[in-house]
Amino acid sequence: MIKENIVNFKKKIPENVTLVAVSKTKPISDLQEAYDAGQRVFGENKVQEMVEKYDALPKDIQWHMIGHLQSNKVKYMAHFVDLIHGVDSFKTLIEINKQAARHQRKINCLLQADIANEETKFGLPFDEIQTILTSEEFAKLENISIVGLMGMATFTENKQQISNEFTSLKQLFVALKNTHPSFEILSMGMSGDYEIAIKNGSNMIRVGSAIFGHRNYIL
Ligand SMILES: *Cc1c(COP(=O)(O)O)cnc(C)c1O
Repeated sequence: MIKENIVNFKKKIPENVTLVAVSKTKPISDLQEAYDAGQRVFGENKVQEMVEKYDALPKDIQWHMIGHLQSNKVKYMAHFVDLIHGVDSFKTLIEINKQAARHQRKINCLLQADIANEETKFGLPFDEIQTILTSEEFAKLENISIVGLMGMATFTENKQQISNEFTSLKQLFVALKNTHPSFEILSMGMSGDYEIAIKNGSNMIRVGSAIFGHRNYIL
């Protein structure tokens, strides 16, 4: 089933949209099956779990950290992580920069914007994103590159609301791209709302359960 799901997704999404296969909680064998179907980008939300899977699987996989990140965990993945989606504090950026420097590399990050009307979701208010990007401290961080934005819509049946939230993020993305040429990625859309996200300008979707099936426990 995983193989078919990967193939079907690749067929149905536009070519400019990157599919991140969200494999959190799933066994290595499931990831291997997706890999064998041609999938190379995987998303995890726990550093420890991602490190274990990185060690076990082929090295041409691009690993994306999509979860809320604790600063003290950055060091365990700094040597291989390809993109960190959920950066929502300046403190975390400083730590990522420090760990990237230790490995003499530059780590790509997305700033997570708060677009949902829910208090449970993480993310930065739009004005704080502006503040970070224009600050002198930020300009000194040479080992990170902010390549775009990430957002999660409210968990609701109300498609119009989801659409409005994605649109607001797309507008911020376009505005910032004018002054930040490194902005390329707009990560929005999951199993339940990726179609709405793509309609509203997403070029990276993070899909878990629609590929791997339901997760048995919530992480
Ligand atoms: C789990 C998760 C996803 C994937 O969720 P599905 O509904 O299973 O597609 C996407 N983004 C983030 C940040 C997640 O934690």
